[in-house]
Amino acid sequence: MSYEIKGLNEECGVFGVFGTKNAEQLTYFGLHSLQHRGQEGAGIVSSDGTTLKQFRNKGLLAEVFANEADLNALAGTAAIGHVRYGTSGNDSLNNLQPFLFEFYDGQVALAHNGNLTNARALRKNLECAGAVFQSNSDTEILIHLIRQKHELSFKEALKASLNEVHGGFAFVLLQNERLYAALDPHGFRPLCIGQLKNGAYVVASETCALDMLGAKFVRDVLPGELITIDHSGMTIEHYTDQTQLALCSMEFIYFARPDSIIHGVNVHNARKQMGRLLAKECPVQADIVIGVPNSSLSAASGFAEEAGLPYEMGLIKSQYVARTFIQPTQELRERGVKLKLSAVRGVVEGKSVAIVDDSIVRGTTSKQIVKLLKEAGAKEVHMRIASPPLKFPCFYGIDISTRSELIAAEKSVAEIKDLIGADSLGFLSIESLIAAIALPDGRTVPNGGLTVAYFDGNYPTPLYDYEASYRASLAQQQERKG
Ligand code: AMP
Repeated sequence: MSYEIKGLNEECGVFGVFGTKNAEQLTYFGLHSLQHRGQEGAGIVSSDGTTLKQFRNKGLLAEVFANEADLNALAGTAAIGHVRYGTSGNDSLNNLQPFLFEFYDGQVALAHNGNLTNARALRKNLECAGAVFQSNSDTEILIHLIRQKHELSFKEALKASLNEVHGGFAFVLLQNERLYAALDPHGFRPLCIGQLKNGAYVVASETCALDMLGAKFVRDVLPGELITIDHSGMTIEHYTDQTQLALCSMEFIYFARPDSIIHGVNVHNARKQMGRLLAKECPVQADIVIGVPNSSLSAASGFAEEAGLPYEMGLIKSQYVARTFIQPTQELRERGVKLKLSAVRGVVEGKSVAIVDDSIVRGTTSKQIVKLLKEAGAKEVHMRIASPPLKFPCFYGIDISTRSELIAAEKSVAEIKDLIGADSLGFLSIESLIAAIALPDGRTVPNGGLTVAYFDGNYPTPLYDYEASYRASLAQQQERKG
């Protein structure tokens, strides 16, 4: 098995609400503000107190529910929802969430954000014991584990099963009488709780979904917690006490929405500070600073402020193009970047430009951007990246590729500069990244904090299914360099 096989539930968005009328509408709006976490498909399962109903399809949320009747048919007092981030080749309808399972003794719905690192081993065991899976998603494993434990109550079986799955997970589950939310023992993915004015609780991947609903932020879900919400209110338990926070730094760098607050840190402010520290670490002689819309604009504004240079709009982004990152071939990806971004000639012509992006993964975007800016007449293009070089894959639910595709895994900064055609290139250091986010360094603080494993290769957990082939790939690379 190659470690390069990725899970099917990478970075996604989850939402849940319990105990209010129009739960399906609230879920729609909550998911709408989580759309940046996944654009391949969306779905909602609702409960009217007696029956769970499901609707899911491919596409953006507004496309999935283009026909109002489909949402109205889900009218209920509780619901969970999911927006799915696609990885190429896995776009079957069966993989869209929330999943809805029908049992002789009731129904259960399930949605997941993250990636399970021992999914293959668990699935093999389950299938050998007679389980039949409907999808090739690792999410389904949880429900099989729960159902195996028929001697236990649903909640006890859920707790025991959460101890069997490893990796990054934020699960939401719905039964007619109850909603559950659970976070992995390292809290890799963000998950928060809010409360509507009528007292009903909501759970969401990011606080921007709470703001959308006018819900009050209650607290972040903490590592190893199981939250139960029913008609008597909310209870918080731990399904394990072996916890240590390893919050994903890529949420702050790229993934989360700038208005979200994760563990008390506003994402925009963290990005702006990354830009400021980048300007200190990698100063540049330039006429203007521009950012790559949208994820880099916060960092670019911080960079400009610190450098004392004018902040300009030198690139514009078409709002009508789907993302380029997940296109299956390099040629399609390159064409995708062109469709998405255009240089503003009137701004960049004849100028020495400092361009700030949040990250370089394969190098496709940077190369195209340098080309676009030079074609539009930029005299010099200085690329500044508001995160450290991405050298190691993420196994916990962010689609940052395989090591062979990560340009910084193989190439030096000078080589990358030449490959992308920039006049200079600079990255933020790991220390400055942690300082900018201002959460504890998960590598040194006993209770944990941020994980920066994608930059230094120090994963906070064993890699299970991925371990052997990942180690082999490192050894091969060492040999090539040797
Ligand atoms: P690349 O073109 O492969 O170097 O990808 C870099 C671009 O992708 C940057 O402009 C980032 O904003 C964006 N990016 C970084 N991480 C991810 C991710 N996990 N999924 C999608 N896009 C990403």
